[in-house]
Amino acid sequence: MRADLVVVGSGLFGATVAQRAAEELGVHVVVVERREHLGGNAYSYRDADTGIEVHRYGSHIFHTSNERVWAYANRFTAFNDYRHHVYANHAGEIYPLPINLGTINQFFHAALGPEQAQDLLARHAAEITGEPANLEDKAISLIGRPLYEAFIRGYTAKQWQTDPTELDAAIITRLPVRMNYNNRYFSDPYEGIPVGGYGAWVERMLDHPRIAVRLGEDFLAGDGPFGRDACAGRVPVVYTGAVDRFFGHRLGALTWRTLDFETRILHTGDYQGAAVINYPDAEVPYTRVHEFRHYHPERNHPDDATVIMREYSRMAGPDDEPYYPVGTPADRERLSRYQQLAAELEAQRIVFGGRLGSYRYLDMDRTIAAALECFEQVVRAWFRA
Ligand code: FAD
Ligand code: UDP
Repeated sequence: MRADLVVVGSGLFGATVAQRAAEELGVHVVVVERREHLGGNAYSYRDADTGIEVHRYGSHIFHTSNERVWAYANRFTAFNDYRHHVYANHAGEIYPLPINLGTINQFFHAALGPEQAQDLLARHAAEITGEPANLEDKAISLIGRPLYEAFIRGYTAKQWQTDPTELDAAIITRLPVRMNYNNRYFSDPYEGIPVGGYGAWVERMLDHPRIAVRLGEDFLAGDGPFGRDACAGRVPVVYTGAVDRFFGHRLGALTWRTLDFETRILHTGDYQGAAVINYPDAEVPYTRVHEFRHYHPERNHPDDATVIMREYSRMAGPDDEPYYPVGTPADRERLSRYQQLAAELEAQRIVFGGRLGSYRYLDMDRTIAAALECFEQVVRAWFRA
C-alpha cells in the first residue's frame, strides 16, 4: 500500500482533504480511521430491523449558504427536500421553535401582532439594566424572563451541566426570535439529507483508486504501518483527531461535553410526528428526542416500527467521546499553547484540522469549507514543492 499522504480520521474534514489530494494532485492517500466505519460523527446507517436510516451520533441536517460547498457535496450525493422543524415539549404542551410569534402567542394565550409581541418582550426584558454579565442575563435581555424560564433555562443547564448564571453570555448572543410564524429551523438557501445517508456519501467521496482506507486503526497507538511512528518525518500527515491527545495531554486536557444516546425501536408508525422534540424542563433528564424516519419522507418505511433516540448531555471524562468544545477561559489559554506546538510541526508536514484538531464547533458545511482551504493553503504546497 503506497502512501504519499496520510489522513487521520474519515469525518468530513479528512474525507474532503483525501478526495482533493487523490483527484487533483494524483497522490496516493491512506486514510487511517479509529472507528469501524467512515464518516466521523455525521455517520448514519440503515437499521437492520426496520430499514430506517439512523444517525449514530445524533441528528445531522446538512444546510449551507456556501455555493461552493453545496456544489462540492452534490458531486458525491443527492440531497432530499427535508426541511428541519423543531418543537419543544414544555410542561406537557408542544410549542414551535425557534421562538416565534406562534410560540409567544401560545405561551401567553394571546393573539398579538409582531409589534405588540415585540413591545411585550421589551417590557419583560427591561429588568436587565446595563451590560448582561452571564448567559441568564443575556437571554432575559433578549426575550424576557417568562420565555427564558420556559424554553432556555432548563435546557441550557442540562446541556452544559452548569447554572446559566455561570455561563458566558456569548453562548446565546444570537438567540433567534422571529416576529412572524416562520418556524424553519435554518435559514440557509440549501438544506437536505443525503438520499443514501451520510455513510454512503463519505464512502462515495473516498471511492477512488488512489485512496486506501484502514478502519479500526488508531494513528497514535504507534504500532500500525501508517501510525505516528511509521510516518514521522517520512510521510506528510493531515491529523483530524483531538489536538490535546496528539500531544499526550502534556499541557492538560481540553474540556468537552459528551452525549449519551439511548436508541429504541417502538412498535408504532410514528411516535412524535417530527424529527426532533426538545425537552427544556429541568425535571426531564434528556434534552431531546430524535425520530429518524422523518428525515427521509421520500423513503418507504414500516408502518409498525420506528426508531427513536433520547439524547443526554454531560461533561466528558477521559474515556468518553468528545462532542462539543466547552471553551472555558482555561481551555482557550491551553488551546493557544497547543496551537503553538502544532504550528512548529508544520515544517515536518503535519497539519491539524477539523472539529477535534482545531477544538472548534463546526457545522458540516464549515468543516468542508475549512478542509478545502487546508488543502489549498497547505497540502497542495507540500506536493508542488
Ligand atoms: P469528525 O466527524 O469527528 O471526524 C473525526 C474522525 O477522526 C472520527 O471518525 C474519529 O474516529 C477519527 N479519529 C480521531 N482520532 C483518531 C486517531 N488517533 N486515529 C484514527 N482516527 C482518529 N453539523 C451540521 O452541519 N448539521 C447538524 O445538524 C449537526 N448536528 C450535529 C449534532 C451533534 C450531536 C454533533 C456532535 C455535531 C453535529 N454537527 C452538525 C457537526 C458535525 O458533526 C461536524 O461538522 C463534523 O462531524 C466534523 O467533521 P470532522 O471531520 O471535523 O470530525
Ligand atoms: N437552547 C435552548 N433551548 C432549546 C434549544 C437551544 O435553551 O430548546 C440554547 C441552549 O443554550 C443551547 C443553544 O441554544 O446550548 C444552542 O442550541 P442548539 O440546539 O443549536 O444546539 P445543538 O443543536 O448544537 O446541540
